[in-house]
Amino acid sequence: MDQCRACGSDWVQVSRTAHYATFFALRVPVHRIDPDYIRVARYLTETGAAVMVADSTTMSVCAQCHFMAPRKCFSTEDLQGLYDGYRGPAYNRDRIALEPTYGAVAAAMDDDRYASARRDALWEWLRPALEDVTIDRACDFGGADGRFIPLELLERCGEFLIEEVSGVPPIDPRIKQTADIPDGSLDMALCMHVLEHVGHPLQYVRRMVTKVAAGGFVYVEVPAETTIDRLRGVRAGSEIVTIHEHINGFMTRSLDRMMQAAGLEVIGIADGVVRMNEVDHPVLRCLARR
Ligand SMILES: [Zn+2]
Repeated sequence: MDQCRACGSDWVQVSRTAHYATFFALRVPVHRIDPDYIRVARYLTETGAAVMVADSTTMSVCAQCHFMAPRKCFSTEDLQGLYDGYRGPAYNRDRIALEPTYGAVAAAMDDDRYASARRDALWEWLRPALEDVTIDRACDFGGADGRFIPLELLERCGEFLIEEVSGVPPIDPRIKQTADIPDGSLDMALCMHVLEHVGHPLQYVRRMVTKVAAGGFVYVEVPAETTIDRLRGVRAGSEIVTIHEHINGFMTRSLDRMMQAAGLEVIGIADGVVRMNEVDHPVLRCLARR
């Protein structure tokens, strides 16, 4: 039986209304893809043509928490190829060749103003809850080089860690990269724009929670990319999902139920917006306590 990978519910509805984006299909060993198709897609890429559509597949939607994801649960090993050289020059070139609209995304992600807009919006939201509490040891899980950590939060902590598989060095000397965090040792764990990329978000959060002390905080943030109308369309088969870098789709309800399923008490949850160059990037935020 399928289980929701956000809230753990068994009430999951399946519909065959998705296809893999070609870039994803080329980098992730998806067994449904026809080898001839991959050969043709590679050829088209090399000749500079844009290719979007690969093979169709199945989506699951949770009737309890409105979490949406491909039915197949990708392992960390499956996804490794997808993040090879992530957002580096070769990655961007190959991806833009297949998905021309990714050019604008790559440029925005590289823009310092995006990081600073994210930090400011985050601290504005967190400040009232954290103003009067002591946070000595925190970790940003999957935090890349630490550019999204609000400086106000960094300054409050005796020790700020990053657990990051890419090995990219932290931008601030106060941040330490580590792969070895003792259980129950953190006052706060953060996980921002990571859960939409992982095979099993609930398992990811549960592991993170073990690192947090009783009474400690857990903050998660994901892009807001799903609507209730879209979920209805997916269930009815009228909405086609393209599976690309963001394999998981969350609604506020999914975050709420996921944090509860991980044994946390939710203390704040919100739809938010990160605004940069007149463009709104909608996000979902959730702050919880162990
Ligand atoms: Zn669910």
